[in-house]
Amino acid sequence: MRKIAIYGKGGIGKSTTTQNTVAGLVEMGKKVMVVGCDPKADSTRLLLGGLAQRSVLDTLREEGEDVELADIRSPGFCSSLCVESGGPEPGVGCAGRGIITSINMLEQLGAYDEEENLDYVFYDVLGDVVCGGFAMPIREGKAEEIYIVCSGEMMAMYAANNICKGIQKYAQTGAVRLGGLICNSRKVDNERQMIEAFAAQLGTQMIHFVPRENDVQRAEIQRKTVIEWNAQCPQADEYRTLARAIDENKNFVIPKPMSIPQLENLLMEYGLLGV
Ligand code: ATP
Ligand code: MG
Repeated sequence: MRKIAIYGKGGIGKSTTTQNTVAGLVEMGKKVMVVGCDPKADSTRLLLGGLAQRSVLDTLREEGEDVELADIRSPGFCSSLCVESGGPEPGVGCAGRGIITSINMLEQLGAYDEEENLDYVFYDVLGDVVCGGFAMPIREGKAEEIYIVCSGEMMAMYAANNICKGIQKYAQTGAVRLGGLICNSRKVDNERQMIEAFAAQLGTQMIHFVPRENDVQRAEIQRKTVIEWNAQCPQADEYRTLARAIDENKNFVIPKPMSIPQLENLLMEYGLLGV
C-alpha cells in the first residue's frame, strides 16, 4: 500500500486535485482510501457527491470509542473509500492531534489491514508545514510519499519550498520522501518552465502540469470529480495522466530546499522572460 500525502499552500487546489486524481486511479481499478485531514471536512465532497455526513472526531465525540468502520468510512465514486478526520471545535485544541487520533482509530478498526487490499491511501492535508500539527502524518510515519501542489505564483512556490524543509527534516529519521510537484496552473507567465526549473533545483520533478480550466468548477458545482461529471472532456484526461504518472512514479527524493535569494532569482529569471 502506498501512503501518499498532498501538501501545498492554502487554496492552491489540494482537495480538488487529490479527488480528481483519485477518480483517475479508481477508474484504473485501484483500491483507494482518502483521508481528509482538514477540519473543514471538504476533502471527499466530490467523491461522495456531497459533504461527508459526520467526521471521525464528531463520531467519537458522540458515540465514544464504540464505533465501527462503517460509521466513519463511506463508499464514494467507483468504490473509493472516504474518511473525514474532522477537527476540534474552532479555537480549541490541536487539529494535528485530531488527525492522529483519527488515523489511529482507522488502524484499530482494520482499515489498513492486508485483507482490505488497499493500493493507496491519500491524506489531504491542510496548510504548509509551519505548524507542527500539520506535519503529523509525516512525523508519525503515516504518510511516506509526498506530492506538493503549487503554481507559478510566488507565495505558492514559497510555501512549497517551506514544505520541502519539513520533508527534509523528517526524512533524516523516517521513510518520508518527495514524489514530485504538481503544478496546478494559475496561468502565470512561463509557468511550466518555471516549475520544471524549480523542481530541478529541489532535486525532484514536476510530475504533471494541470491546466486551469472552468470544467473543474462546473463539476464541483455538481458535487462531482471531472471524470464522473464528463468522462470525455480534456480536463478528465489531464487527471488520468496525473493518476498514471503517480502510479508509475519511481522518483522519490529527499528535497533540497532553496534559499530565499535563489527562489527570488528563479522568479525573476522566468517571471520576467520576454518582458
Ligand atoms: P484549502 O487549503 O483551503 O484546503 P485547497 O488547497 O484544498 O484549499 P481547493 O479547495 O481544492 O484548494 O481548491 C480551491 C478552488 O480552486 C476550488 O474552488 C477549485 O474548484 C479551484 N480549482 C482547483 N484546481 C483548479 C483547476 N485546475 N482549474 C480551475 N479551478 C481549480
Ligand atoms: Mg482543501
